[in-house]
Amino acid sequence: DEFKQEPIDSWQLGNHTWNFLHTMAANYPQNPSEETKQEMKSFISSFAKFYPCEPCAEDFREWIKTNAPKVENRNALSFWFCDAHNAVNDKLGKPTFDCKYWMARWKDGWEDFKKASRE
Ligand code: FAD
Repeated sequence: DEFKQEPIDSWQLGNHTWNFLHTMAANYPQNPSEETKQEMKSFISSFAKFYPCEPCAEDFREWIKTNAPKVENRNALSFWFCDAHNAVNDKLGKPTFDCKYWMARWKDGWEDFKKASRE
């Protein structure tokens, strides 16, 4: 039946998690309240504690020590998650993503894609 599936592997887990994290950042407020900023900081530290791939979580906690979460606004948070993801990409020998395109990738879509699908 449809529920009888294998547990998720760390590759799939990572892919789904980045999808979630970048989309969350892309929808974070432009002008968050002090309370919201604190809540995002707590979310990130809990995430770094509970992310269910221990070597991944451990390296992420190390990275955060020298790269404090930037929770000031949507743009800052989106760049911060982009940098975090690039640190993992680097470690795994994957290409890095040019963070200036975060909004096209995770919020608005790519203009040339949209144009091509209209034509
Ligand atoms: P992913 O890296 O999952 O990326 C998904 C999509 O995000 C890409 O297709 C691309 O369109 C986009 N993207 C890529 N880079 C960026 C960026 N910098 N900013 C915004 N968008 C981007 N795996 C390990 O093997 N070892 C680890 O130590 C490890 N640590 C991890 C730590 C965390 C916090 C997380 C969330 C994941 C970690 N992973 C780790 C998993 C790894 O990062 C990948 O998710 C996994 O290898 C699957 O890769 P993928 O090719 O599907 O693309």
